[in-house]
Amino acid sequence: LTSPLADAGDRHARTRLWLGDEGLAAVCETPVCIVGAGGTGSLCLTFAAYLGFRDFLLVDDDRLDASNLNRFVNATPADIGRHKIDVLAADLALKVPQCRVERLPHQFPSIDVIDRLADERFLVIGCVDSVKPRIELDILCRRLGLTYVDVGTGFGRDAAQTITDSGGQVLVSRAGGACLMCLGFTHLLDTRDYLVPGGTEAEPSVLTLNAVMAAVAVDLAVAIAAGHPREHNKVMYSRDRFTAASMLIPPSPDCAICGTGAAARVAGVLGQVPDAERR
Ligand SMILES: [Zn+2]
Repeated sequence: LTSPLADAGDRHARTRLWLGDEGLAAVCETPVCIVGAGGTGSLCLTFAAYLGFRDFLLVDDDRLDASNLNRFVNATPADIGRHKIDVLAADLALKVPQCRVERLPHQFPSIDVIDRLADERFLVIGCVDSVKPRIELDILCRRLGLTYVDVGTGFGRDAAQTITDSGGQVLVSRAGGACLMCLGFTHLLDTRDYLVPGGTEAEPSVLTLNAVMAAVAVDLAVAIAAGHPREHNKVMYSRDRFTAASMLIPPSPDCAICGTGAAARVAGVLGQVPDAERR
């Protein structure tokens, strides 16, 4: 009767066969913050709730547009114009009513979000398009001792702007490990690279690709919450070549964020991020 899962009935019976009682309880008790409630963030929320996570903080100030409906399976056409986080909370209340969803209609970074993240031991999942807030979110999480899982998808183009590839990556930045920059952002300054969607123009975005990357991210989050984190901290997926790879990237000793002695320097790092990465 005192089980944290008592209110969930048998809903997670099959997941329990995978994670065990202890693992499932640990997942259930880990609060998750999802920053960015778009195509990938919305699926991360749904997948996480179905896998047993129960407490969520959703951060996004965006409203649902008709063009989102190709990938926002939690919404109906009647939801156009509503805040995405409100649409998601209402949908989740129907599908997994045990979940508690707190909403912050802000764009990261915002003081309210920073204050809230400092309050609780969130596992943070970032589903934000642009580079600068992702690096800022990573630095904040590292300062607070929170593990940060970053999800990205994108489309690569050749010189003639023909789409040549699509895919994505999931990066895990945690205490003692490589930061987001060392996990690949420093090599991804070309905004046409599929790993970092660039610019302000509308980019292609497709449900199936988002679903693959959201599933990879949430599975990694489950492993972390259950106390058996994967050794790798980077997963790359190419949809067109149908290849996937995982790797463990070490922190770079010279890195101002995660390298030796970085703690003393990290406060000044945001001022050093080159303008090309500030979007
Ligand atoms: Zn680093």
